[in-house]
Amino acid sequence: MRRTIDLGTFLGIRFRLHFSWFIIFILVTVLLVYPDYWQWYYWLIGIITSLVFFTSVVAHELAHSLVGRANGIPIGSITLFIFGGIAEMTEEPRRPGAELKMAVAGPLCSLTISSLFGFMWLLIPNLSEPVAVMILWLAVINGALAAFNLIPGFPLDGGRILRSVLWHFTGDYYRSTRIATRLGQAVGCLFILGGILMVFLRPFGLSWFEGLWIAFIGWFVLSNASASYRQILWQGVTPMFTVGSAESADSPSVPPDITVN
Ligand SMILES: [Zn+2]
Repeated sequence: MRRTIDLGTFLGIRFRLHFSWFIIFILVTVLLVYPDYWQWYYWLIGIITSLVFFTSVVAHELAHSLVGRANGIPIGSITLFIFGGIAEMTEEPRRPGAELKMAVAGPLCSLTISSLFGFMWLLIPNLSEPVAVMILWLAVINGALAAFNLIPGFPLDGGRILRSVLWHFTGDYYRSTRIATRLGQAVGCLFILGGILMVFLRPFGLSWFEGLWIAFIGWFVLSNASASYRQILWQGVTPMFTVGSAESADSPSVPPDITVN
């Protein structure tokens, strides 16, 4: 990825920020602060929450990278960009077991972070309202991050899990990749279609912006599923993507004690 800022090396992995990350960072922060723009305290909490969220995305990528490396899959770099994170492997997995472990590690890390924030929200007494809302949002967004990335379409983590299982049982790497990338294309198309429908119908009080964002995520998944299959045919290496901001456009300004009857 070009146009990145080098943040240095940690545990033998290069960390980078793509310029497009600044757009999503500002967007997430502004949506977190909405509608309390006149209170500096909300800005402070919003910026901290946004930074904690992107650190959780890095933790997700780092989990993939460290488990991958322990299983013989070298990782060169981790980059944050507008749609989430990318862990760039320098080689494709050679065994389905190694790919399965590496693919599961990311969502498992996000689920762990989600549970930690969930317990904090439940167990810490007398949290001030904006802090409680942000902690709950971090629990929900990390859970959503795990769930979204488990959708079985390559290059999402769920697609890699599916490919490794098919590869294990059929022994056919290319056929398994073809099935997983076809599903990835189908997932991408569904998101584009669903996003466009949301722009016009706006169900569940969602805004046109959320629809547009989902359509963009769909386009990203679709184009990468197609590119991944071509790359693998040519013995190339496909990066591991984590779509991290699919749901982050949601505003968390819901009272934490809301109940649905
Ligand atoms: Zn992932």
